Amino acid sequence: MQQDGDGDRINIAIDGPAGAGKSTVARKVAEQLGYVYIDTGAMYRAVTLSAIRASIAPEDGERLAAHATTLEIGLKPGEQGQKVYLNGENVTSEIRSREVTLLVSPVAANETVREVLGTLQRGFAESKGVVMDGRDIGSHVLPNAELKIFLTASVEERARRRYNEIADSQSITLEQLAVEIAERDRLDEGRDIAPLVCAKDALVMDSTAMTIDEVVEAIVKLSRTKLAEAK
Ligand code: C5P
Repeated sequence: MQQDGDGDRINIAIDGPAGAGKSTVARKVAEQLGYVYIDTGAMYRAVTLSAIRASIAPEDGERLAAHATTLEIGLKPGEQGQKVYLNGENVTSEIRSREVTLLVSPVAANETVREVLGTLQRGFAESKGVVMDGRDIGSHVLPNAELKIFLTASVEERARRRYNEIADSQSITLEQLAVEIAERDRLDEGRDIAPLVCAKDALVMDSTAMTIDEVVEAIVKLSRTKLAEAK
């Protein structure tokens, strides 16, 4: 692993719709550069899990907002990827449940939830050297990130990839999954606050016909160019 020296690092934002491969790509890019990987979707999922446990509906904006300000969300790098903690409890697997997935977009539309998590995310990126994936990183959370990627793929391809990941553990058909992914995109693109958009200075990469390694290689190469420019 090659690590760029302190003060010699950039921030990389990877945004895009659900299932475009952002987390896998971001994790591998971070590994190759010796950077820290931050999965912001996991943070929205942790808040959603907590709201479900507290029987707070996403529509109950005031209670959800008050609840979000009490939570301690932690991220730790682990051998199998990033681990996610909710008030000290490891919830890494639980936040991937279908129940959480179906409710996360309405929870993420809450202004206070976004403020609380956005502040945490900016804090993680303060000393540079992060690869952060999400929906609003380049457009909102880290508008000064030196490299911004908007990673996309056709909805059919995204559903197929997600299906291959979860088919063993969750009973859902490929068609159902495609519908749910498209609906999540619609909600994420349509919300008032920090919607899913391609930042104007982001580079669009369509990964429909690319392998993960090809995408990773292209981003690592771009990041080295940006790093040289930033020096
Ligand atoms: O990345 P993932 O699919 O796990 O994200 C789950 C959800 O979290 C997204 O569908 C979106 O509603 C929300 N999210 C967000 N802003 C981010 C990251 C995720 O609103 N930066």
